[in-house]
Amino acid sequence: MNWEKRIGKLRKKFGEKNIEAVLITNPANIFYLSGFTGSAGFIFAAPEKAYLITDFRYEEQAEKEISLQIFDLVICSTKIIDRIKDLVESENIKRLGIEAKHMTVDFYNELNEKLSRCSLIPVTGIVEELRTVKDEEEIDRIKKAAQIADSAFDYIIKFIKPGLKEIEVAAEIEYFMRRNGASKASFDIIAASGERSALPHGTAGERKLGNGNLLLMDFGAVYKGYCSDITRTVVIGKASEKQRKVYDIVFEAQNRALETAAVNMTCSELDGLARSVIAEYGMGDKFGHSLGHGVGIEVHEAPAVSKNSREVLSPGMVITIEPGIYIKGWGGVRIEDMVLVTEKGLQVLTFSTKELLEI
Ligand code: ZN
Ligand code: ZN
Repeated sequence: MNWEKRIGKLRKKFGEKNIEAVLITNPANIFYLSGFTGSAGFIFAAPEKAYLITDFRYEEQAEKEISLQIFDLVICSTKIIDRIKDLVESENIKRLGIEAKHMTVDFYNELNEKLSRCSLIPVTGIVEELRTVKDEEEIDRIKKAAQIADSAFDYIIKFIKPGLKEIEVAAEIEYFMRRNGASKASFDIIAASGERSALPHGTAGERKLGNGNLLLMDFGAVYKGYCSDITRTVVIGKASEKQRKVYDIVFEAQNRALETAAVNMTCSELDGLARSVIAEYGMGDKFGHSLGHGVGIEVHEAPAVSKNSREVLSPGMVITIEPGIYIKGWGGVRIEDMVLVTEKGLQVLTFSTKELLEI
């Protein structure tokens, strides 16, 4: 990873945000900027120097993970906040950016009190904006994470049978992914069957798969710090006419988005492409969530692919396209793929079959 380039890009944003330096507290942003995976640490990026501040528990790990040419590693034996104060003062920073969404009120108050000669400037998205466009190494990791999820799907459709509990399906998917290179699942696996499939985020429960049930499975793997995210909906036994019809509508909506999307389109336009198909069939009110989201270090990250998102599709973005129809008391269907935005349109990264499987 080109850490120097990333810190350079971060510093270029200082002017736009009207700050002289920034304190990074979001672990995903710390990982993006430095490769550090410890659960306690900060990055203080000043105009010339950058510091990774952590405590003795992570000393050895940090030395292995980060570039010591780029970062000064600061190991605190006393209160971390006092070291931050010393560094900010020695760098003579008067306007320090802080991540508004990633700092507790307690920490803010304490920092504010200690840094009496420096203003704390809340900023949002300063690193998240950089993260929306992936470089080649990131794309390779995401592709590998997607591949693990695809093979998990191939595996699970052979495992599924009536009488299994949702939680058993979820556990089996996770176990398969971890045996096949994933460090963990990218979120709590969703396996929702029957009427429970109408819950867009129905985590796996005790319900047993019954004949004629829809089964919605939404899952992903983490590979070297990068996530994948895929959803497939299958039928246990034979699909009814209504299940098939709903499935076809979702499939058509997804295809419309996949085929029509182009660079420079806004995310809200992309969302509208799929949404209008579902609305044409009179089911607009059954698609209550946004069409997709960015995927990378976090499974949900910028850009949001939603009705109100003015973000523009740029080459290198990795997003999901996941329309769904959810009918209370009956069930739901969602189909989700990950795509890479390219100059030529969307390149699909997940390849599991989208034929309606009857298992
Ligand atoms: Zn998903
Ligand atoms: Zn998703």
